Amino acid sequence: MKNNKAAKTKVENGNAVVGLPQFINKTKLELNNNSINQPEGMNIKNEITEELQESSQNEELLKNVENKITFTDLNLNEDIIKALSNQGYTYPTPIQIKAIPIALEGKDILATAETGSGKTAAFSLPIIQRLSMQKPNKSNIPKALILSPTRELTSQIANSIKNYSKFTKIKQVTIYGGVSQKNQVNELRQNPEIVVATPGRLLDLIAQKYIKINQIQTFVLDEADKMLDMGFINDIKKIILMLPTNCQIMMFSATIPPQIKELSDNILNKPTLISVDNPTMEVKTITSSVFFVEKPDKFKLLLHLIRTEEIDKAIVFSRTKHNANNIAKKLQSRRIYNDVIHGNKSQNAREKALAKFKSGEISVLIATDIAARGIDVTDITHVINYDMSSEAETYLHRIGRTARAGKDGIAYNFCDEVERNYLKDIEKLIQKHLIRVTDHPYVSNHSPPEMTNLVAKHTSRNSYNKKKRSKRTKSMVQQY
Ligand code: AMP
Repeated sequence: MKNNKAAKTKVENGNAVVGLPQFINKTKLELNNNSINQPEGMNIKNEITEELQESSQNEELLKNVENKITFTDLNLNEDIIKALSNQGYTYPTPIQIKAIPIALEGKDILATAETGSGKTAAFSLPIIQRLSMQKPNKSNIPKALILSPTRELTSQIANSIKNYSKFTKIKQVTIYGGVSQKNQVNELRQNPEIVVATPGRLLDLIAQKYIKINQIQTFVLDEADKMLDMGFINDIKKIILMLPTNCQIMMFSATIPPQIKELSDNILNKPTLISVDNPTMEVKTITSSVFFVEKPDKFKLLLHLIRTEEIDKAIVFSRTKHNANNIAKKLQSRRIYNDVIHGNKSQNAREKALAKFKSGEISVLIATDIAARGIDVTDITHVINYDMSSEAETYLHRIGRTARAGKDGIAYNFCDEVERNYLKDIEKLIQKHLIRVTDHPYVSNHSPPEMTNLVAKHTSRNSYNKKKRSKRTKSMVQQY
């Protein structure tokens, strides 16, 4: 992995054929020198324009920095500001600037914001501040409830809240399925003020009378559109019916599909609508390339790349759990230490795998799409799509695991003959051709497909996705 060998792989983009890392370095060099000289056949000018477009997305954040809006300006108290400075946060993000003052007033909010925008702090800081002004909870009836769609996201939110409330006496409990409820029930007995939960296990514990939510002062519905995608809408409606009528509600969603709009119309009281044009605080510089390779050779190609490229930390995406296990086993037998996360793994196993990956104990994590949702590991250098994503949007979610916190990232896509339509979909969605790597040892015998016609209308496989995509396209494509 971390050998400094020159890459043997070559890429083809138009007519040019150069070594992969050289291509990337060259592109960066050209960008740094602000030179628009165009090497033969390579569209550096486009790369520069994209880079500039990406930076203009961050204009709003830069404006905040220039205007020096600070967390103190948002009326957050000293304990919280100290915790934020411990986290290394200097300036609030656009969603934080817009949401925090309104949330502190106890008003309802409907916000369009994605992972990466700083939305967790946007809703949790006001909750912490309002609760820290009250006496510590003496009953096991919590005061704030945050619902999120997945176990991983729930843990992540809880972890952020733990950091942000470090200098307060606020307690919280995390509730999700897939693990024994014993610890959760014990923690509920410690009178936590905040509950962060997935809907199913929360309803279970309510039914068993371990928790009451009739005194919740603030309710947050995070990633509302994902909740809908994952079939939680009825559970959410049940939960909302148990909340007191005067409770403050904040809804956060990447998109507002009709069912979420209807829900918000029904439950929110004169909400403030907030949307941030630049949904992410990170400038994404991801170099994405495609390898045409047939299924029986995909593992060999993976091995080849791991052994010849400088891959510090890679997440490998597989479409199925079975395949994920298989890849993991085969890598392990070649002493490439890795772990797997997918839906059949216990919560405990998933958390252990993530912790090992974060700490650097393992440098390869194999994942399926659902399990990888919300993974926030800042130093992933490579995303390897062992199977092409069948949904173009999933591709964006996958590659978004790299290039976090302002770092660069590389995405490799293994495309076999039956997956070529997926490639077309992705290229049409992002309005860009992926770099074609044609000189690797396992090139498909099938001649490469024609370059995708980016101007032709994007055709979705079903109408629901079509609607969903057209709304999401703008914000997500802007990000990457
Ligand atoms: P989120 O959108 O809540 O998932 O946050 C994305 C990432 O940004 C997380 O790793 C946060 O720790 C980080 N973050 C949130 N707010 C700020 C801020 N104001 N400054 C720097 N990093 C932040």
